[in-house]
Amino acid sequence: MTLVEAPVKTGAKKLYLESYGCAMNFADSEIVAAILAKEGYETTRNSEEASLVLINTCSIRENAEQRVRNRLIHFNGTKKKNPKLMIGILGCMAERLKSQLLEEEKLVDLVVGPDAYRDLPGLIDEISDGRKAVNVLLSREETYAEISPIRLNSNGVTAFISIMRGCDNMCSFCVVPFTRGRERSRDVESIVHEATYLYEQGYREVTLLGQNVDSYRWNISKKGEIADPSKPSVNFAQLLEKVALVNPKLRVRFSTSHPKDMTDDVLHIMAKYDNICKHIHLPVQSGNTDMLQRMNRGYTRGWYQDRIAAIRRIMPTCAISTDIITGFCGETDEEHADTISLMKEVGYEFAYMFKYSERPKTLAERKYEDDIPETLKQSRLEEIIEIQLTNSHRRNRESLGQICEVLVEGHSKKSPDELYGRNSQNAVVVFPKGDQQIGSYANLLITDCTSATLMGQLID
Ligand code: SAM
Ligand code: SF4
Repeated sequence: MTLVEAPVKTGAKKLYLESYGCAMNFADSEIVAAILAKEGYETTRNSEEASLVLINTCSIRENAEQRVRNRLIHFNGTKKKNPKLMIGILGCMAERLKSQLLEEEKLVDLVVGPDAYRDLPGLIDEISDGRKAVNVLLSREETYAEISPIRLNSNGVTAFISIMRGCDNMCSFCVVPFTRGRERSRDVESIVHEATYLYEQGYREVTLLGQNVDSYRWNISKKGEIADPSKPSVNFAQLLEKVALVNPKLRVRFSTSHPKDMTDDVLHIMAKYDNICKHIHLPVQSGNTDMLQRMNRGYTRGWYQDRIAAIRRIMPTCAISTDIITGFCGETDEEHADTISLMKEVGYEFAYMFKYSERPKTLAERKYEDDIPETLKQSRLEEIIEIQLTNSHRRNRESLGQICEVLVEGHSKKSPDELYGRNSQNAVVVFPKGDQQIGSYANLLITDCTSATLMGQLID
């Protein structure tokens, strides 16, 4: 399959595209930019000069939605001065709130769900005529496989590649299965083509994205049977190998792994190729088995510990990061203590930590009471953040005196004389730039650290 480059029509109209939430949303915005480039839209970073403002939204927690509402109110202020401005909402909030934002709150002209972006040109034509437009149909097939994304805010070195969409897992706290629909995998050939194309364009790192990358399967049924024997079938371990083989100088990362599905096969492929980065993001959510059951995560504390042990056995240098939720329905002091003990035991390099936010339609909303007081959610969150800071600092101190290779991504925020990059374990390293170029690999001696960053010196 060939990727279709987006020829930009002349007389460019300006599109201002703002994205919230997970990496998948940012990757989707790049597909939207490609679809609209064909219609003559050029992206701008200045919303004042735009004729079309699109906000790609996230519904994962209530505060994410609130932030978007505030932005919509802001852009409606701009619309008062410029009535021709068209405002649209994309992504998970579009899917969740459908016409509420359009009809009741009158904040937008256009509402488009994550599987309907191909329909954007037609919908924009409708709103140019002064009508309102909406398409929030979810699809079982759409993967935008052949669309070559237009890289937005790119450093020209690292890029996301979406390998699947949707999620079938139904974790009881999570809105994603409702907003992004059923899980489906993207054509393997188009993924390898995109990675090859990016390498040829000078990119040196790709991150393969999906809500549960371990369940990637091409031409394999959910039961594990080959769908069409005349075609190649590919699971996640095999896909990872194919992308790693594009070029040894192209680094490969992936996110997110699911503990119930992560196989040793994937770990062995990671160990086999130097260019597959030694970092796994393995969200645990809670360290207590009863809680994991209420969360419908499909694994126990013991199973998760076994997966950690497998990573350490097969790749002793692999970094592990996680996601944790505090204050989920009915969380007892003992259950919270189990999360803390697991954090200490694993010693995560990094963690994203959240207070539970009840989401409409989810299993938890229907089945359990959101009964942990806000103050307790907050104090438990602060407690685990403190523990993670200690873990991160300890992990970073372990790197002192070691030599690592980083891919140089850009200038450090603090000084034009310093560059930064990430090592295979995904730690950010800042160093005096010397002759090093962005997009090159640099060998560094780690000389200092904080809990968030390593400092290094170039070595020959
Ligand atoms: N698919 C990934 C997985 O299963 O690990 C994660 C996807 S989700 C976009 C990212 C994280 O948001 C989750 O791992 C979870 O920790 C957090 N999250 C999801 N729903 C939440 C909720 N209702 N309240 C608080 N945090 C939530
Ligand atoms: Fe949400 Fe669970 Fe799917 Fe992750 S695996 S997107 S947390 S339902």
